[in-house]
Amino acid sequence: MAKFIFVTGGVVSSLGKGISAASIGKLLEARGLKTTIIKCDPYLNVDPGTMNPFQHGEVYVTDDGAETDLDLGHYERFTNAHITKDSNITTGKIYYNVIAKERRGDYLGKTVQIIPHITDEIKRSIKKVAKEKDVDVTIVEIGGTVGDIESLPFLEAIRQFRWEVGENYALNIHVTLLPFIKAAGEHKTKPTQHSVGRLREIGISPDILLCRTEKRITKEQRDKIALFCNVDHDSVVEAADAKHIYEVPLMLKKEGLDNLILKKLNIKKSDKDIKDWRNFVVKRVKSPAHEVKIAVVGKYIALPDAYKSIYEALVHGGIANDTRVNIVKIDSEDLEKKKRGKQMESVQGILIPGGFGDRGIEGKVKAVQFARENGVPYFGICLGMQIACIEFARNVCGLKGAHSTEFNKNTKHPVIALIEEQKNVKNLGASMRLGAYPCKLSKKSLAYQAYGKDNISERHRHRYEFNNAYKDQFAEQGMLFAGKNTQHGLVEVVELPSHPWFVACQFHPEFKSKPDNAHPLFRDFVAAALRAKETAK
Ligand code: GLN
Repeated sequence: MAKFIFVTGGVVSSLGKGISAASIGKLLEARGLKTTIIKCDPYLNVDPGTMNPFQHGEVYVTDDGAETDLDLGHYERFTNAHITKDSNITTGKIYYNVIAKERRGDYLGKTVQIIPHITDEIKRSIKKVAKEKDVDVTIVEIGGTVGDIESLPFLEAIRQFRWEVGENYALNIHVTLLPFIKAAGEHKTKPTQHSVGRLREIGISPDILLCRTEKRITKEQRDKIALFCNVDHDSVVEAADAKHIYEVPLMLKKEGLDNLILKKLNIKKSDKDIKDWRNFVVKRVKSPAHEVKIAVVGKYIALPDAYKSIYEALVHGGIANDTRVNIVKIDSEDLEKKKRGKQMESVQGILIPGGFGDRGIEGKVKAVQFARENGVPYFGICLGMQIACIEFARNVCGLKGAHSTEFNKNTKHPVIALIEEQKNVKNLGASMRLGAYPCKLSKKSLAYQAYGKDNISERHRHRYEFNNAYKDQFAEQGMLFAGKNTQHGLVEVVELPSHPWFVACQFHPEFKSKPDNAHPLFRDFVAAALRAKETAK
């Protein structure tokens, strides 16, 4: 029978529950177990698709086109699990399903209530994923902090779940904080005691405490936490701050977390080191041979989580090239005001990520122009490809005022437009193109060189497309249409062969990059930046 690990968080938010859950997945996978993860988000939005990145951080997109929480991105990066739309359960989704059932009369005249109907729906959704994915262990991360009103139905559901499946089949891991109080010179355990107390009030007794700390915890502190929180001595696990997130699985392994979990779940598997992760990923992240500077030009620069997968994929591209990628974050609105982007002059590569809305657009156009005219490696992703086409139209093809209809409905040259605004493509609708689509690459392209094959599949999240009416004009001026969706005739990759490295794609390659298997475009972009650094010497 499948087993379950529930991960809750206490004391404060931002404890790294997602990284902890992903690291647990990594450690269990290394022991030969098939795992998956579910993220439960207590908010009322059905999914984060409509949320502002400043509120929520990046929206992570799965192959099957779900817009999900960014923690699922960590999970796909750390493990081999395949994340799908069912992997993210929100309060909104649960209520939506329950209300639909109520309207259909499925509850046969009963009064529909949080307990049992909402909690049953939560349990059903969790079991469905475990069954469909046919895994040994399902890790369920409960978003929010214990004590929040919103997460109560989820906590009640996991309490019932554990009661139903019994010991050895479900495990509660509570991620908590031991704040270090400088004046006292010690860690304080009281917030953890209170947080565990809150859990016990609602019938959940954590089996393992993952204690986030700045400094090492002493044996006395462990004993105290164990006694007051009612857990075994060996179940108080130190999770010290890591320099880099990819170190976390190694640190937890050193603390014996995988052995502890296997013991408590009564699973027998021989011990295995995560050698490749240690020797390749962590070693290169910590002490790489080379260094480059790459600018990311966007409008959500102030929030580190808004471009999470982009930043991670750049790290991966760095790992593949044994290079530290120093990311220079440039606010596209700042670029608009400036005559010249001084910061751009010191970088060896420029990346423009995806985005919506017209704020900062002209700054991005300036950044592309700078990269194109100065031979600086350029990587455009989604909006970054659209901007590259707008810039090329205006400054190379001489199409004055060329734009995307997203930003100027009445532009004379709609080089980027909605599908139905383009006459030769029909039946796709103005809805978002979401999830995996196939793409065929031209054998002459840098993209083909990177992937080493011509049929690829990548994830999308956008409404607007390149307007094929401009294809010939662009091609005459030297733009290579390097990748296309053959079924719908849509442009997916453009390149400038006269430039050292100028690749822009309509899809989001960052979602499929892993630390130990960098996405080929990110790998080659960083390699191009390294070459640019060499030639500049
Ligand atoms: N706003 C653009 C579109 O909808 C680009 C979207 C994106 O970059 N994800 O087409």
